[in-house]
Amino acid sequence: MSPERIVVVGAGIGGVHTCQALRAQGYDGDVILVGDELDEPYDRPPLSKAFLQGKKQTSDLTLVSPEQWRSLQIEVRTGHRAIGIDPASRAVIVSGYEPVRYDRLVVATGSYNRPLSIRGATLEGVFSLRSLRDATALREAARSGHRAVVIGAGFIGCEVAASLRQLGLEVAVVEVAEVPLLRVVGTEAGQFLIRLHRRHGVTMLTGTGVTEIRGHRRVEDVVTSTGAVIPTDLVVVAVGVRPALDWLLESGLADGGGITVDVSLRSRDPHVFAIGDVARFPDPVTHSLIRVEHWDVARAHAAHVARALLGSQQPYSILPYFWSDVFDVTLQYAGHCEQWNQIVVRGSTDETSFSVFYCVDGRVRAVLSVNSPRDFRHARTLVEAQVPVRTAILEDSSADLRQFGRTEDR
Ligand SMILES: Cc1cc2nc3c(=O)[nH]c(=O)nc-3n(C[C@H](O)[C@H](O)[C@H](O)COP(=O)(O)OP(=O)(O)OC[C@H]3O[C@@H](n4cnc5c(N)ncnc54)[C@H](O)[C@@H]3O)c2cc1C
Repeated sequence: MSPERIVVVGAGIGGVHTCQALRAQGYDGDVILVGDELDEPYDRPPLSKAFLQGKKQTSDLTLVSPEQWRSLQIEVRTGHRAIGIDPASRAVIVSGYEPVRYDRLVVATGSYNRPLSIRGATLEGVFSLRSLRDATALREAARSGHRAVVIGAGFIGCEVAASLRQLGLEVAVVEVAEVPLLRVVGTEAGQFLIRLHRRHGVTMLTGTGVTEIRGHRRVEDVVTSTGAVIPTDLVVVAVGVRPALDWLLESGLADGGGITVDVSLRSRDPHVFAIGDVARFPDPVTHSLIRVEHWDVARAHAAHVARALLGSQQPYSILPYFWSDVFDVTLQYAGHCEQWNQIVVRGSTDETSFSVFYCVDGRVRAVLSVNSPRDFRHARTLVEAQVPVRTAILEDSSADLRQFGRTEDR
């Protein structure tokens, strides 16, 4: 039997798509979407790319138009912050409003940006980027600024650096690891990212920390761990995120590392599900618990949770996937691999088109493709199939990867 009332907390891509998927699958009970932001739900990935570059405007980011909301018959409560749940009465506690009763609850509250705890981090001119309002403020500052320092060379840091550079600013990136995204893409692809940024005129200071941001009221310069002083008009802090679950810590369902869910994305409270950035779910390949902070995963979770809420027993089986756009390069990544025992490069990381395979015991656990959508498509099936593949074949750009995703390479 379908639940009578489904409440979704978090009006980002995961929460919004859950509502849409419920209706698409024929659910006609009550759906209430609770979100703490004041803006209508919008798409986040363009914030560091086309929106920051001024190529997209706020109206281009809207996920669902007011007419569509009306026709979906979903009650959207923006500006409502959930501050807890009462599992006994099955209600979400909302700051300043009546509790919202649920039969089933979907938690989709995404991530908070990690703050940088150094002197000067709260000066005027220091930005971080998570929301439309953050992006609007940064875009505005970039109009009048000439120099920017980006602290952290993860995906957001790299994208922001590229966008600001494309706007004509002088940009320096300071990253404490030896290469950008070291733990995700490894040394070879990380060095490629350094070269890519340098080729476009970005100063890349890797293996370097930031010890202080200085200025009188407004930021004036950034001091690095090597003692260098970088004069700047603005600073963007992009040092990672953590799950937005402070509001659920007391419930016992969540901890600092997420909400653990099963293959139906259901938490240990059978009435509560979790999706997107907050969900610690079984990796479809290794079955170990992972948390993935990417758009496509939140969307795939949403479609799955809608089916699970309506009674499907199908286990979640979609490979994690993400993309990123940096200058003229599109990166695509499928799978999940934090520890590999071999990296195999197909093509050359000196070019702007290649793939990197992250292998464990002769099987491809994850693949990163740079401007190689065709290789990526086929390599993805290799990750799904988990068949052993010889290094020589992965390296050989003339070998068609399609055949190895289906049958074992003997
Ligand atoms: C600038 C930027 C660029 C990105 N680019 C890419 C990209 O190129 N590719 C990619 O794969 N991924 C990208 N991502 C990551 C991707 O956007 C996220 O993984 C995705 O949005 C996660 O979806 P979600 O629904 O879990 O959470 P979110 O989209 O973060 O939505 C969560 C919502 O819940 C709200 N919320 C939080 N706490 C509460 C509360 N207590 N009560 C009510 N509401 C609450 C939040 O304010 C937010 O509106 C990017 C992220 C950012 C910030």
